[in-house]
Amino acid sequence: MTRTLSILGATGSIGASTLDLIRRERDNWRVVALTANCQARELAALAREFSAEVAVVADESCLAELREALSGTGIATAAGLAALIEAAARPADIVLAAIVGTAGLAPTMAAIEQGRIVALANKEALVSAGDVMTAAVARCGTTLLPVDSEHNAIFQCLAGNDVAHVRSITLTASGGPFRDWSHAQLAAATPAQAVRHPNWDMGAKISVDSATMFNKGLELIEAHHLFPVGHERLRIVVHPQSVVHSMVEYRDGSTLAQLGPSDMRVPIANVLAWPARMDTPCAPLDLAALGELTFRAPDEERFPATALARAAVQAGGAAPAVLNAANEIAVAAFLAGHIPFTRIAAYVAQVLAQTALPAPATLAEVIAVDAEARSRARALMEFA
Ligand code: NAD
Ligand code: MG
Repeated sequence: MTRTLSILGATGSIGASTLDLIRRERDNWRVVALTANCQARELAALAREFSAEVAVVADESCLAELREALSGTGIATAAGLAALIEAAARPADIVLAAIVGTAGLAPTMAAIEQGRIVALANKEALVSAGDVMTAAVARCGTTLLPVDSEHNAIFQCLAGNDVAHVRSITLTASGGPFRDWSHAQLAAATPAQAVRHPNWDMGAKISVDSATMFNKGLELIEAHHLFPVGHERLRIVVHPQSVVHSMVEYRDGSTLAQLGPSDMRVPIANVLAWPARMDTPCAPLDLAALGELTFRAPDEERFPATALARAAVQAGGAAPAVLNAANEIAVAAFLAGHIPFTRIAAYVAQVLAQTALPAPATLAEVIAVDAEARSRARALMEFA
């Protein structure tokens, strides 16, 4: 049976992993919309290969190039936020939300409003819009399937169980490329070093987030919204091998874990085929070859991000959106070489401490909180 799929953020790392799986079962899928920020040539090549209905770039200055690259194909082209939202709302069995950052929020919400299946990779959208997004999911009868490997693991470990019986949920963290670095080394870390993750091949922003541990902080907030067991039941453990992707402990003392290779095609396949299963080309797990799996407590002194995220989730209201927006600005400033690595968490902490905004109740209010937090983060950096 052919299923229809749209990918928001098709040219990124998650987009590429998804299309790799689709390519292997071409006859089972029909691609509706593919989107990118700019990357017009890359997007056009994918739209041609998969005979997409429409290709959309967020950046309007890239439309001419996209049009030219797709002329004569019959594939529709468009640009800008409204076009992205229209593409996200087009009828499709499953919409994969894989834009990076809160840029993906409005399109993801548009897909949710259609009440179908939304596979969510875009964690920043859920972190900033939390309650607004989960309310929309409930109101529209949408099925939200987590793509993030930890959350996909938890989703699998919860299958067939009642969350009322959960004692705790443990997110595993690789610890990132700097997990054993000293304060002094961290202060001198470069963008090139930060984006070189030991276990996962990912986009630049999430790679920096892994290095600071903000990725795990964002994932703690993401887990809080996806799995309503109470934030006090959410834990983090550092697991350098990235084989155990997360765990759920039940009241009877049983802990269920999901294991797999550190390849995003595994959780992506899980959501694409859900509730069935599909093949992936990933090498099977060879535990004997791995030899050992290790675990240790996170060091929140060297990596304060997870403590900041926990404080934001406890504070609730606008705090997670503020944390997320400040982090996006700080990561961009670090990647541009404007601030040292260790200032990322310092700026986020400062913006959080200085920004008390009312809890957003609508998408427009979330976007306003996000914009305000960004401008405060930028102002802080200018005066530093
Ligand atoms: P990426 O940078 O490789 O790709 C991002 C995609 O979003 C690209 O298609 C890009 O063109 C598009 N995009 C960027 N800015 C945009 C904008 N302003 N407007 C519209 N589109 C824009 O990122 P990625 O690593 O694929 O991550 C995507 C999302 O998935 C992130 O939220 C990330 O946290 C999450 N995620 C990624 C991984 C991974 O292994 N890469 C794992 C778990 C979760
Ligand atoms: Mg993850």
